[in-house]
Amino acid sequence: MYASRVRADLHIHTTASDGTLAPAKVVRIAASLGLRYVAIADHDTVDGVEEALAAARGTCLSIIPAVELSSVRDGRDIHVLGYFVNWRDRSFREHLGELRRMRLERVRRMLGLLAERGLELALEDVLKEANGENGSLGRPHIARALVRKKLLHSVEEAFERYLGRGAPCFVEKYEHDPVEVVATIRAAGGIPVLAHPGLHLTEEIVAELAGAGLLGIEAFHSDHDPATERRLLRLARGLGLVVTGGSDCHGVGSERGLRIGSRGVPTGLMFRVPA
Ligand code: AMP
Ligand code: ZN
Ligand code: FE
Ligand code: FE
Repeated sequence: MYASRVRADLHIHTTASDGTLAPAKVVRIAASLGLRYVAIADHDTVDGVEEALAAARGTCLSIIPAVELSSVRDGRDIHVLGYFVNWRDRSFREHLGELRRMRLERVRRMLGLLAERGLELALEDVLKEANGENGSLGRPHIARALVRKKLLHSVEEAFERYLGRGAPCFVEKYEHDPVEVVATIRAAGGIPVLAHPGLHLTEEIVAELAGAGLLGIEAFHSDHDPATERRLLRLARGLGLVVTGGSDCHGVGSERGLRIGSRGVPTGLMFRVPA
């Protein structure tokens, strides 16, 4: 039904968080693929936005400033995208800085747990995989450092055996509730959109969040099959939510491959409530 060529990939990570491509490189690739809209949606940072905007100047590509914030409900991760956030706003940037400091602290704790299991990694090894101390440090950086140091074979192995939720070296970043995160994005002038609701998120939670100011859901995503897309489009229609979509690309050479433009939202449906 929505099989037309993707022109809008509204979920891309860069080196500002756990992507492997610099924002300018993302823009070059997206422009060469003929995309019209790309949202730079890094975890807990908007540091990639300015570079992407500059790189897109003079091309047919429009950059949508965005962010992806994390929250937890009943022991499950719930990610919320914030489109068109006021990325220059000082107090919002300070808030994001605080989140990144908590990420750094968490990496320190996870390195301690890994060391107890014989996997010795220095903080510097992890920082080398990321944008330094001001980067948005996550488990992918730890996993990549473990692989680079030949302590483990693959990023997948790192998540399965040590870093995944429920694995022995997992540490929570911070425990914000999704309702709180939706409010944070609204306060920063953004459009809060539930990221990759996938198969497991209940309609009750989506309805609750819609009542709390959520404005959209990411119906199209690399992890969603066509049946899931249809279910989410129906859900959006029922709740009057707009829909978005994107590849959630983390870059070339990343564990899930280069997938800019492999998924996205049909431009006619972008930020609209499905009919
Ligand atoms: P964090 O922000 O530190 O909690 O890490 C979450 C990120 O890790 C996600 O955004 C994905 O990029 C990545 N990730 C999560 N699970 C896996 C997995 N099983 N294999 C590879 N990457 C993963
Ligand atoms: Zn990620
Ligand atoms: Fe996510
Ligand atoms: Fe993402």
